Amino acid sequence: MTSPNQIHNLEELFLHTLEDIYFAENAIVKALPTMAQKATNGELKHGFETHLKETKDHVSRLDRIFKSLGKPAKGTTCPAIEGIIEEADELADIRDGQVKDAALASIAQAVEHYEISRYGTLIAFARRLGHDDLVQPLEETLSEEKATDAKLTKLSESSILKKSA
Ligand code: FE
Ligand code: FE
Repeated sequence: MTSPNQIHNLEELFLHTLEDIYFAENAIVKALPTMAQKATNGELKHGFETHLKETKDHVSRLDRIFKSLGKPAKGTTCPAIEGIIEEADELADIRDGQVKDAALASIAQAVEHYEISRYGTLIAFARRLGHDDLVQPLEETLSEEKATDAKLTKLSESSILKKSA
């Protein structure tokens, strides 16, 4: 984690937040294949695979953002996402397949909500700092995170929760 005495202004806080989400997106790229492998519901498995591709695009978009700021693309440890992924690792060992799917879907939504909050903040900071060119790529990622969250809600309600009781 960046130490607080390295952050003196909103520009530095913006950069720190970019490094935080860069770490998180890379951690999600590593975690999603296991989540896809552990899911028993076909649609959930497919959803994780699709979001893995999108998440790789999120990393590339951040690479371009760092580049346009003239900063090295690097992550700063984000204990929040590490904690959520740790929960996924634990719950992926639930024996009952349907209950495990419900757990994996709920953890995935926690991940999406984390990302949604970060990108919302980054967009507000970018606007305030006059980085108008960065707003659109950040919004593209934000809308993919929101769509994934909505898909997970729909899948849980229409299928996963009906099979788990
Ligand atoms: Fe993402
Ligand atoms: Fe995501």
